[in-house]
Amino acid sequence: MTDLLPFIEGLPKAELHVHHVGSASPRIVSELAARHPDSRVPVDPGELAEFFSFTDFAHFIEIYLSVVDLVRTPDDVRLLTFEVARDMARQNIRYAELTVTPFSSTRRGIPEQGFMEAIEDARKAAEAELGVILRWCFDIPGEAGLDAAEETARLAVDLRPEGLVSFGLGGPEVGVPRPQFKPYFDRAIAAGLRSVPHAGETTGPGTIWDALNDLRAERIGHGTSAPQDPELLAHLAERRIPLEVCPTSNVATRAVAALDEHPLREMVAAGVLVTVNSDDPPMFGTDLNNEYAVAARLLDLDERGVAALAGNAVEASFLDPAGKARITGEIDAYTEQWLAK
Ligand SMILES: [Zn+2]
Repeated sequence: MTDLLPFIEGLPKAELHVHHVGSASPRIVSELAARHPDSRVPVDPGELAEFFSFTDFAHFIEIYLSVVDLVRTPDDVRLLTFEVARDMARQNIRYAELTVTPFSSTRRGIPEQGFMEAIEDARKAAEAELGVILRWCFDIPGEAGLDAAEETARLAVDLRPEGLVSFGLGGPEVGVPRPQFKPYFDRAIAAGLRSVPHAGETTGPGTIWDALNDLRAERIGHGTSAPQDPELLAHLAERRIPLEVCPTSNVATRAVAALDEHPLREMVAAGVLVTVNSDDPPMFGTDLNNEYAVAARLLDLDERGVAALAGNAVEASFLDPAGKARITGEIDAYTEQWLAK
């Protein structure tokens, strides 16, 4: 089998499931840690690599929260956001819907207006200077309860930054039933935002049905357990409801035992529109290019197959039709040129 990584690296791509703070690479964390010497996060790159190697999901949450703690001012938010876009540009990611949890920042005392201005500033600079189009998904941290849901809906609807396209729900699924968030999703949807909750990552297909029926999900974050329910798979395929699949993340958090056991093949075989994503890439020791390489291996794809996967993400995105056509054109042109070599 040919090594597809060089092809994948140059391929123009879109990413639909990637978290803001969870995208902070050691390079970015080191810069933030240097700004806040009182934090317990190391500045030294070697020590940071050690710091980033987590042992289980609880440890992952601990690391994640210590990075959250480094983002204290609007200027930290701006730095984080722009530098995440720089890491995306290096992977030829042309468009990303970045999941932002504004509640984590406003709760920690960052002024809400300052927060919105910082992400918008970074978004405009990323597009102008790096050629990366960013859009936001504001998500409810499910573990923080209904107050967090209320606050997230208020920030999304009342302060709505220009780049905001969708409304999400993250955090643990066990013990956090999706239906309780219906009123907040109703408000966001009424304001024109698209519904993209995480569901079926660590719980069964029932959670995905709840996300569809109660939260009116237009895409599903993860949906890893969908293949356990053939009726659900058929429904997702028929309604063209995409899944945002994050293979390495699923193994890192033990939602799936091993990459070779990932249900990606069953999803594709059932005709579901599947997209490949990186979730919290540096924390899971991956990036989007690596996730495409993993998917290509699991699905036994060639260059055209990988290009089609990239096309799925563009199709499933909330980018406007002209933007979609442009990136699809870039994917096709790149692929034809590569294969003609
Ligand atoms: Zn996620």
